[in-house]
Amino acid sequence: MADRDGKIWFDGHLVDWRDAKIHVLTHTLHYGCGAFEGVRAYNTVNGTAIFRLQEHTQRLFNSAKILRMQIPFTQDQVNDAQKEVVRTNQLKSAYLRPLTWIGSEKLGVSPKGNTIHLMVAAWEWGAYLGEEGLKRGIRVKTSSYSRHHVNITMTQAKAVSNYSNSILANMEALDDGYDEALLLDTSGFVSEGAGENVFVVKDGVVYTPDLSAGALNGITRNTVLHICEDLGIQLVQKRITRDECYIADEMFFTGTAAEVTPIRELDRIQIGAGERGPVTEKIQNAFFDIVNGRNPKYAHWLTKV
Ligand code: PMP
Repeated sequence: MADRDGKIWFDGHLVDWRDAKIHVLTHTLHYGCGAFEGVRAYNTVNGTAIFRLQEHTQRLFNSAKILRMQIPFTQDQVNDAQKEVVRTNQLKSAYLRPLTWIGSEKLGVSPKGNTIHLMVAAWEWGAYLGEEGLKRGIRVKTSSYSRHHVNITMTQAKAVSNYSNSILANMEALDDGYDEALLLDTSGFVSEGAGENVFVVKDGVVYTPDLSAGALNGITRNTVLHICEDLGIQLVQKRITRDECYIADEMFFTGTAAEVTPIRELDRIQIGAGERGPVTEKIQNAFFDIVNGRNPKYAHWLTKV
């Protein structure tokens, strides 16, 4: 991916994709203290627009605050950077990756004395868990790795270091022939996927773990809360056990990359009818209407680039 045409916004300037480089002694590369976002731009009925841009930028700044990092740009500048990157690279739809990291002036665990940097890249990226997965559902494995405890790494920060846990869980699941991992918290309650929030449907009610289970406060998760309210579907945030999932009617993952992806199997146990269920399909359709600009109620969630 490093050698290609295009531009990356790097500390306030657009630089060539292949020149957007950092030093090997970069603090974040050694100790993992950094934060990022995953954002999508959709080719909506009104042209290319970034979905919930302000909320993503706000979460990036929240992550930095939690990690005691002072981003040297304003939120407006970071919003503009994201629009600019999509425009400049002439992308109709895109996945955007803003990342803030600690520089290379000085090593040692204490980052004091280092500068803070920020970049935004964007590229075309289709369905994260596959087009087929969006329609038919994916196969998931409960991970042998627990999700972070809320007082170890900070779970409301989209911190670089949190993803070593996600990577371990995801690799284990893939090596075992599954599509994705489901992680439990340190008490054994359902938390989230390696890069997704999780939902369970039972008797027409939609359940999702409350955030004390260590799940990220997903922006797609929040979008689904709005969709359920609009559709008159009861939504409950609560502690969820693994066996509640096994006997659920439907399950699905949400995320900027994963969008709304049905889960048809967990630990080789079929979930419901073993396909995308009717409630998931309704929510999925409502989601794609919103992100593609077909629901005027949420026009304010789409920022034209
Ligand atoms: N949990 C984790 C661990 C994630 O990486 C993501 C993706 N950002 C999510 C949940 C979903 O968050 P969002 O809907 O904001 O993309």
